[in-house]
Amino acid sequence: MQENDLLAKITALAKRRGIIFPNSEIYGGVGGFFDYGPVGVEMKNNLKRLWWKYMVDDRDNVVGIDGTIITHPKVWEASGHIKNFNDQLVECKKCHKRFRPDLIDFAKECPECKGELTTPKKYNLMFKTEIGVVEGEKMEAYLKAEACQTIYLDFKNVVDSSRVQVPFGIAQIGKAFRNEITPGKLFYRAREFEQWDLQFFVHQSEMEKWYEYWKEERMNFFKHLYRKHDSLRFRQHPEDELAFYAKVAFDIEYKTPWGWAENEGIHWRGDYDLTQHSKFSGKDLSYTDPKTNEKYLPWIVETSGGVDRTFLFLLFDAYEEEKLENGESRTVLKLNPDVAAYKAAIFPLVANKKDITEKAHELYTQIRKKLKVVYDDRGNIGKRYRYQDEIGTPKCITIDYQTLEDNTVTVRDRDTMEQVRVKIEELENHLTAN
Ligand code: ATP
Repeated sequence: MQENDLLAKITALAKRRGIIFPNSEIYGGVGGFFDYGPVGVEMKNNLKRLWWKYMVDDRDNVVGIDGTIITHPKVWEASGHIKNFNDQLVECKKCHKRFRPDLIDFAKECPECKGELTTPKKYNLMFKTEIGVVEGEKMEAYLKAEACQTIYLDFKNVVDSSRVQVPFGIAQIGKAFRNEITPGKLFYRAREFEQWDLQFFVHQSEMEKWYEYWKEERMNFFKHLYRKHDSLRFRQHPEDELAFYAKVAFDIEYKTPWGWAENEGIHWRGDYDLTQHSKFSGKDLSYTDPKTNEKYLPWIVETSGGVDRTFLFLLFDAYEEEKLENGESRTVLKLNPDVAAYKAAIFPLVANKKDITEKAHELYTQIRKKLKVVYDDRGNIGKRYRYQDEIGTPKCITIDYQTLEDNTVTVRDRDTMEQVRVKIEELENHLTAN
């Protein structure tokens, strides 16, 4: 398959099956904004739940918060975003389109109309808004350009209100907004997106150890999530890419149709963030060790990834087109079952036989109390299988004439397409075992 084809095919599938819709499409759309459809929202919630379980629920030393999108504007002065969060841009003197010079051969000409290009200029990527209603008294503010800032703001409150002790982490999944100059490739570069972040607070003497720990942990998470492990790698930042406070930085990259691309960053933030916010707020953000009484500013290991970008990479990872023995072909999303929108689909073999539809409904009502399942009686069984394959439903359960006699159902596996008979009383175990 041509590599660009894959993005086009996934975009079409995502729309056709209610996974991702372009935002404001009836008005012609607005670049860099997307909505999740009925299937996509289930998948995204599962993805976020998986991260939360791995990063918070399964650990004793991580707690979560949920911070706001708008903060005090000084936050962004302290973080350096107002001064430094810029992209270089060149503008075409003829068609006035703007491009990032690193993405085009800017020494030459406009890639769209061949017009002459300006020299690069800086553009700030933050979205501005206003707090207050009275003209002249409004306070200029910004939408969060990175979700993690609220974690630093709440650091002291978390320490004072919970039982955490350094080393410990604060996790958050939150929206971020960047007025990207060249949004594109679905969620890869969006203007509104979500990030999952961990800020792990340590004593300086343990920084190296925890940095290595989280680097491996995050790679393990992605290995659990994706099927294709050779599409995952670490990329170490060269010296000239490092922030001045960072001793080291690694990205976890995924191999996309357009090459290796950042999925998540594992950052050595040192005491930069707490120092900055102490300085700009005038508040002492230091931590006192309850055992040794040592007072210090903790250092931070950050893991910061994009939820929507991971969602897109998951679609690349899962998408397959297969030729079947009968000469037909099928499209299937071989998604991690933890992320699939539904654990199973439930079908009555025929839609017009009361005994069978009643039995199928009864089973559906019973299973949905514990597992996310979907009922489908449209078209024939073959078409229903194709539909469920395209949204990655791991199992399809069919209630047929035999069910009425011996209380067994046919369970068909998404990946192998094998069918087995399973007793209804064993169905829940069968579905959760896989
Ligand atoms: P890039 O170099 O790709 O622009 P970045 O280095 O600016 O990314 P960070 O600021 O480290 O990214 O943000 C952490 C994560 O947030 C990234 O690894 C990525 O997964 C996600 N992310 C960043 N910008 C976007 C965007 N415009 N759209 C979707 N996800 C994004």
